[in-house]
Amino acid sequence: MLFRPLTAAFAVAAICTTTAAAPTATPPTEAQVRELVTKAATSKTCEDCVAALRVSREFARDSVTAAIELSKSMCPNITKSPADLCNGNIDKQMPVFIESVFKADFDRGDDKAICHYVTDNCPPPPVTAGTLRFPRPKPKVLTVPAHSGKLINVIHLSDWHVDELYEPGTEAQCDRNTCCRTFPTTNTSAPPIRAASTWGDYHCDTPVKLTRDLMQFIKKEISDIDFGILTGDIPPHDTWLETKETVVPIEKHSYETIASFLGDGVNVYPTIGNHEVAPANLYPTEKSGGSAQWLYNSLSSQWSPWLTPSARLQVRNNHGAYSTSPHRGFRIISLNTNFCLDDNYYLFSDLSDTDPNHELRWLISELQHAEDHNERVWIMGHGAPYQTSCLDNWSDLYYQVVLRYSPHVIAEQFFGHSHVDDFAIYYEHGNEAGVKNARTAVGMGWTGPSVTPYKNLNPGFRMYKIDTSSWNVFESVTYIANLDQAAQWDAKSETPNWHVEYSAREAYSPYVPLSADEPLSAAWWHNVTEAFENDPGNPTGPFQEYWKRHSKQSTAYATCLANTTCPQQMICALRSATGVDACVAAENGFKKRGDGGNGEAVEMVQETRPWSMKMCGNFW
Ligand SMILES: [Zn+2]
Repeated sequence: MLFRPLTAAFAVAAICTTTAAAPTATPPTEAQVRELVTKAATSKTCEDCVAALRVSREFARDSVTAAIELSKSMCPNITKSPADLCNGNIDKQMPVFIESVFKADFDRGDDKAICHYVTDNCPPPPVTAGTLRFPRPKPKVLTVPAHSGKLINVIHLSDWHVDELYEPGTEAQCDRNTCCRTFPTTNTSAPPIRAASTWGDYHCDTPVKLTRDLMQFIKKEISDIDFGILTGDIPPHDTWLETKETVVPIEKHSYETIASFLGDGVNVYPTIGNHEVAPANLYPTEKSGGSAQWLYNSLSSQWSPWLTPSARLQVRNNHGAYSTSPHRGFRIISLNTNFCLDDNYYLFSDLSDTDPNHELRWLISELQHAEDHNERVWIMGHGAPYQTSCLDNWSDLYYQVVLRYSPHVIAEQFFGHSHVDDFAIYYEHGNEAGVKNARTAVGMGWTGPSVTPYKNLNPGFRMYKIDTSSWNVFESVTYIANLDQAAQWDAKSETPNWHVEYSAREAYSPYVPLSADEPLSAAWWHNVTEAFENDPGNPTGPFQEYWKRHSKQSTAYATCLANTTCPQQMICALRSATGVDACVAAENGFKKRGDGGNGEAVEMVQETRPWSMKMCGNFW
């Protein structure tokens, strides 16, 4: 998941605001910035947000240092976060935010766009990406390979978020992104409100002990794993503390742990999350200045047990993305989707660049090669293009790519980042209303459930059964442990109760029949969402069953009651493979997809929360 700091960001942003317009003769005063930022944080209107951003940019133009200090002074109050967390996040995030805001073109509407991406207080900017041109037109006759009937096992791990500094017995209910540690503000003389168990907590990241127990379970219980996929985010959510020096060893230890339990014969195909880099989320573009080459070099080396020399060279030279063929006729394309995430402030430096680092152009060339050579392709990434946090232009272009190469080339797509168990269906006519049905469903995006219980979720992972000719999913089995029992495991010296949560085929085929020789296709999933519409409040009906699976049966997660708009919004989101789709009402009347990620259910998204959390520390 990501990391959303931003209230103070505004102060900073505000601070950081201005670029294209010439600086005014007299810079705004600190009092003026405070007043406008406070007003924006209170009213949450687009107009006030833009005013605050603009005055902040003018203020920052006069002195970046003063802007950062002002941001720090406002952050604890506005975000209700501890000062050390505010200061750490602002020191790490704000310089890039300010530099990017300096370069942004407010006359073009970047001010409103930034307010949208950072605070949700402005409506989404219009999609301006236009229509893609492909190397060759889509073939008139699409040949999808027949299923061979031979199935292999593939495991999917996502959002590992291990916390090597996790301390059992510490406070699990704190005012930070991640708890279960001793922080400078921890009152060690008082007993914790809720003491961290040795196995984890709903407000904390994953203890090392839980990751090892999970891998032990996989080693013991899941036989014949052909390969694994790992959809990003190894480090914990302590974004205010992270540096290159802290994240690299955590990543190294985790990849080594996974490799040692799975053994030499099982390759894992990883992808880059927003937390792999430090500071979190900040992946420079070729145009923005800055460099994450240190990370690409590090991952290229750390992934050496699993990737070919050619794939490792791509990781190093292609901003972490690579394309590789684990089996004849089958290709995995691993994207660095941080070039679409709105937490990557480098992207604000040029919002007119709809394909930063030409990643989509590279993806198209790989897919064209696959089409020309009759290969089946899986696309994987961390943040999904269908999640709200993906910039709308990128999300729209990606959808066009999916439609051009589906269903004959792209077999499946896998992502992570939201931590919940989720999916999204791609349709032939994209967003067009009224034509989303089983016949027009052409592609699936699978969101892998997180290993971390953060936030309010049970830890889990996935195993798929995959056909070795079509490379389609024939079965999806999700495993979990019920973390609300952690105190009992400790008291009785037991280990977590890892078990099958559900098989998608067994869970939904009673509602939408599926014969043994048919995959869990987009058309089938569309019909499952139609079954969800039927009596969504029935506690034993398919929608409420789905809702429990969304949080991996967490007792700490929100409800999605039938007498609210929640079920309808969630079903809309499942049929919306682009962030542009409007399913969930945001605070100011406009809508967004609302993927239910970030530990928040729909109704939680709508409730009041501190303004502009991005800057100050609500980082997924
Ligand atoms: Zn993430």
